[in-house]
Amino acid sequence: MTMWSRLTSVVAVAALALLALAPVALARGSNANVAALQVALRALHRYGGGIDGIPGPRTKSAIRTFQRAHRLAADGVAGPRTRSALGRRGRPGLGSRVMTYGDRGWDVAALQFMLSRRGYSTGGVDGGFGAGTLSAVRRFQSAAGITVDGRVGSGTLRALRHHRSSSGVSSSTPTGPIRLLRPVAGAIGDGFGYPGGRRHDGVDFPEPYGTAVGAAGRGTVAFAGWNSGGYGNLIVVQHRLGYQTWYAHLSAFDVHQGSAVAGGTVIGRVGSTGRSTGPHLHFELRHDGIPINPVPYLLSSTSLGKRIFKAEAPTRCMDREDPSTPAGGAIPPRRQNPRTAVLAPC
Ligand SMILES: [Zn+2]
Repeated sequence: MTMWSRLTSVVAVAALALLALAPVALARGSNANVAALQVALRALHRYGGGIDGIPGPRTKSAIRTFQRAHRLAADGVAGPRTRSALGRRGRPGLGSRVMTYGDRGWDVAALQFMLSRRGYSTGGVDGGFGAGTLSAVRRFQSAAGITVDGRVGSGTLRALRHHRSSSGVSSSTPTGPIRLLRPVAGAIGDGFGYPGGRRHDGVDFPEPYGTAVGAAGRGTVAFAGWNSGGYGNLIVVQHRLGYQTWYAHLSAFDVHQGSAVAGGTVIGRVGSTGRSTGPHLHFELRHDGIPINPVPYLLSSTSLGKRIFKAEAPTRCMDREDPSTPAGGAIPPRRQNPRTAVLAPC
């Protein structure tokens, strides 16, 4: 081997190592790549701890055990050879492809960790891009004001790394392909996500009993009737582009199924029917059946009158997994049927 070719190969190996090692910053606190590593080790029954993205003693010891079993230098660092020994669970690296529904691997586990840390539950961090992950990606994209396509490329990853918080979005600057008027004039109480640690598929407007509720936009009433899953008297308005708005706990209906509505059409009255602790409007925005955060879509004016509102107080989104959504499983159809959809406790 000549000096030059040796040098070239050393450079090549070093570059390769850098490429593979760069995202695995084990020393840098909580890290999506550490979480991906934990997922891989757990799947291989080498790690029994939590997926917390923290390279603590338990994680390092699991790496060493794995490395010894694969006759690698037991340095406790997930370098390229260790990643390679992890097989399909050790690749592809985060950011090396556009992740979509059905994908599996290291990058998907890292993505799930990032989403759930931001308050967008994926229903589990397991390295499989299933329905729960798809829903979380869409909710995040919607909140971040980027294209809601459920695909994770460099744009979504960049937004995940830098976008501060969905709740910080000003209500006067709606994002996304549609705009919604506020169905009632009041401010939002419980927000979307995990206020208080429980899943909440919509936002709550505390309003006096009987307050008129306006349609948030043009559409057709797809459902106006009783829901047995906790929504009580429920109206669902179908808008364009696969969007629906849901209005729950109503005390009265002013429209019926099939009615055409415009933004501001009075559709019903605030009540406390179904599983509700007091008069309020539970308002949901769904895209292709998946509840997403309506706040970034809301204009500052209400559908009834033109009061202008300040941005909501931040919603506290807890970082926890959603036990009701099976990892990688399909969205149960009953969650999409207005007659039987089950209201998450709020
Ligand atoms: Zn609610």
